[in-house]
Amino acid sequence: MQLKVKCSNFSSGCEWTGELKILNEHLGSCEYRTLKCLNNPCSTSLLPKNLKEHMENLCIYRLVTCQYCKQKIVFSEKQIHEENCECLPLCCVNQCGMKIMRKEMSSHITDSCANTIIPCQYLNIGCKFKGMRKEHETHANSLMQKHLSMAISKLDALENKITLTVDTLENKIASKVNALENKIMLRVDALENKIMSKVESLETKTVSKAVALENKITSKVELFENKNASEVVALENKITSTVDALKNELISKVDAQKDEIMLHEKNLEIIKAFLAVKTMNPKNFCGSSKKLKTPFRETVFLVDQLQLSYVSDVPCKSDINFIISESESEYTNSESKSGVSDSNS
Ligand SMILES: [Zn+2]
Ligand SMILES: [Zn+2]
Ligand SMILES: [Zn+2]
Ligand SMILES: [Zn+2]
Ligand SMILES: [Zn+2]
Repeated sequence: MQLKVKCSNFSSGCEWTGELKILNEHLGSCEYRTLKCLNNPCSTSLLPKNLKEHMENLCIYRLVTCQYCKQKIVFSEKQIHEENCECLPLCCVNQCGMKIMRKEMSSHITDSCANTIIPCQYLNIGCKFKGMRKEHETHANSLMQKHLSMAISKLDALENKITLTVDTLENKIASKVNALENKIMLRVDALENKIMSKVESLETKTVSKAVALENKITSKVELFENKNASEVVALENKITSTVDALKNELISKVDAQKDEIMLHEKNLEIIKAFLAVKTMNPKNFCGSSKKLKTPFRETVFLVDQLQLSYVSDVPCKSDINFIISESESEYTNSESKSGVSDSNS
């Protein structure tokens, strides 16, 4: 058994009753349900049968088109918008009889309105006429001759002005050129002086460097010369001392030779003396035989002392000894024969 319910919009007049499970389906299409207007920010609630009429023709928030500018505007603002619409046609403020859109009024007045008061187009050549735009054609036609003479005198004045200006400019340029020339000359002079002083200082520097170099070279050369001279002197001294040493050596050698020669001479004398003694007869000597014996022994001793053995060209020591001993025995024999004894002397 299904539970029967009444429509939720019963109080608004809906007489629908039905099963609970289809109530939601009914509410979606109930003629007494309320719907909200979709025009923002309108929040009016309406029955479905009244909604379309409200939204399209009654709602103050519905969008309408401006008849002048064709923009979409909210209905509630339509009157204010149209009163101020840029495209609203207005009567010309100069009362020329034309209707002009609000946004074009200014350019109409300035550029084309027949009633706008403007000065004559020859104002700059001296025409002081001012009148409505529509009057200017007549003015220009009637004052053509005057405008022409005005133009000629203006041209003359301009020519004079130009001549004067050109003169002034020429003078100005000439004086500027002079000033610049003077400035350049001064600068050139200053630069020249600077360069000259630099060159001079460079020259001085170079000269002093050259002098210093020369001095250095000279002192080096002198040093070298001194060194060489002292070396030469040392060499000279060495040679002198060597020569002296050699000389001394030679002298001492010569002296030695001399001594040797003297020795030989002495030896020769001794040998001569000995030979003389040998050949002499002991009996010829005056006095005792003992007197003869003594010089004999002395001579032998001398010969011994003088070391005759190293003299090659004289008799050797043994030979002399033999000669001496032989002579002695000869002497002794002759002494004994003569009967002379040592004890007697
Ligand atoms: Zn209902
Ligand atoms: Zn509405
Ligand atoms: Zn508009
Ligand atoms: Zn106008
Ligand atoms: Zn004029």
